[in-house]
Amino acid sequence: MWIDTHCHLDFNPLKTNISSVINEARKNRVDAIIIPSIDLGNISRVIKLSDRYRECYYALGFHPMFLEKIDPHDLEILNKYIIKYNPVAIGEIGLDLFVRKDNLEVQEYYFSNQLQLAQTFNLPVIMHVRSAIDLVLKHLRRVKVRGGIAHAFNGSFQQAQQLINLGFKLGFGGAMTNPRATHLQNLAKSLPIESIVLETDAPDMPPYWLQDGAYNQPSEVARIGHFFSDLRGLNSLEFADIIRVNTMQALPRLAKLCT
Ligand SMILES: [Zn+2]
Repeated sequence: MWIDTHCHLDFNPLKTNISSVINEARKNRVDAIIIPSIDLGNISRVIKLSDRYRECYYALGFHPMFLEKIDPHDLEILNKYIIKYNPVAIGEIGLDLFVRKDNLEVQEYYFSNQLQLAQTFNLPVIMHVRSAIDLVLKHLRRVKVRGGIAHAFNGSFQQAQQLINLGFKLGFGGAMTNPRATHLQNLAKSLPIESIVLETDAPDMPPYWLQDGAYNQPSEVARIGHFFSDLRGLNSLEFADIIRVNTMQALPRLAKLCT
C-alpha cells in the first residue's frame, strides 16, 4: 500500500535491526522501499538488501555530501554498475550548499556528470537539494532528464512548480510533521496532489511524534501518509492509491518490478 521513496536502510541503527525494521514495515503495509546509494562503498550493500528483502529496490549514484571518497574514474565504474544492476533511478545525486559551499565546483562536476548518465540510460533521478534549488534547476535545464524525485523538498511554490514542469515529483516526509513547519505544511496542502510522493529519509529526519528516542524507519511512512491525507482532508486509502500512481510515474522501472 505505502511506498517509502527514500530510505538509507544500510545505515545504522536500521542495518543492525534489519529484521525488526522489515517486519515493522510489513505490519504497516509498506510494500516498497527505495534505497539510494551514496558512494561506491555502499553500492554492494544496497543491492544485497534488495536481493534479500522483496520490498527493497535501489537507486545508484554518488551523494553530494560524500564526494571526498569519489574520483572521476568512479563515474565509469558507476556507468558499468548501472548496466549490470538496472537501478530504478540514478541517486542519490544533487547539490548541498547548506553543509559546505567550498567544494561547489566538485559537487557540480559530479551532479552534472550523473545527470548525463541519467540521460544516457533514460533513467529518473533521485535528488538531494539543500540551499541550492535554483542552481539545480539550472543544471536540469542544461541536461534534460526524464524527471524523478526531489527528495525532502523545502523550497518555494515557484521552485516547486519549476521542478514539476521538468517532470519531477516532490518528496515529503517527517519534517512537515513538526507543528512549526508551517511552510512545508502549506506546500503539502496546496501543491498539485499528482506531484507528491512520500518518504522517511530514515534513519534521518524523524517525524515529530518520535521524541522518545525511537529511531525513524520505513514503517513511519504509513503514519506520514495519514498525516498528509489529514492535511489535505482526503481519505487515507484513496490518498495512498494516488501517491502510489505518482511514485510509479516517477520511477517507471519500479512499476514494472512491482507487478
Ligand atoms: Zn538520502
